[in-house]
Amino acid sequence: MQAAGENQKEALEGTLITISDVLEYLFCPRFIFYMYCLDIPQHEENRFKVQKGREVHETRKLTNRDHTRKRLNCTRKESEVFIASSKNHIKGIVDEVLFLEDGTTAPLEYKFAEYKDKIFKTYKNQLILQALLIQENYNIEVNRGYICFTRSNNLVKEIEIKTSDFDKSLKIIQEILDVMHKGVYPKTTRSSRKCIDCCYRNICV
Ligand code: SF4
Repeated sequence: MQAAGENQKEALEGTLITISDVLEYLFCPRFIFYMYCLDIPQHEENRFKVQKGREVHETRKLTNRDHTRKRLNCTRKESEVFIASSKNHIKGIVDEVLFLEDGTTAPLEYKFAEYKDKIFKTYKNQLILQALLIQENYNIEVNRGYICFTRSNNLVKEIEIKTSDFDKSLKIIQEILDVMHKGVYPKTTRSSRKCIDCCYRNICV
């Protein structure tokens, strides 16, 4: 007979959630439950994926990406990189992986947005997850990431990434895996304002 830990390991084998899944979970933990445990898809207007598609399209039109890269003391870059980590059960696309002069690497994310004196938590979380994937796959230290705001004349903002940020992200990934594999019903979002437009509001108690 298999131990509980072994069963859990087997269940997790091959499970890869996306960076978007994590961002949605952070927006409201229940999305994951409805999508993966009850198999109720979100409507087409799934905010992160649609938003991402639009951003990619618009930023390609608007950005001189080489110019942005040169400003960051970067010796080389890889673009539109798909990275997966079977160890940490996550996958995602990084707009650019920058190889910096100080020997570290950093994710760069283009946002079809204006900078308004504030970096949204979602942006930072996205960079941390990308950094986690880069660090593992390239085996090079990542201690910062960059957001390029294409509607603010390609203003680039640097965001520091600490070990504690990686630890928090890994904890969140584990919570999501628990929802998916153990059917743990998550708490509601802390902000009921988010429920107003939610496609699950009729079934969500
Ligand atoms: S109704 Fe509110 S709590 Fe329920 S899934 Fe939607 S946002 Fe989350």
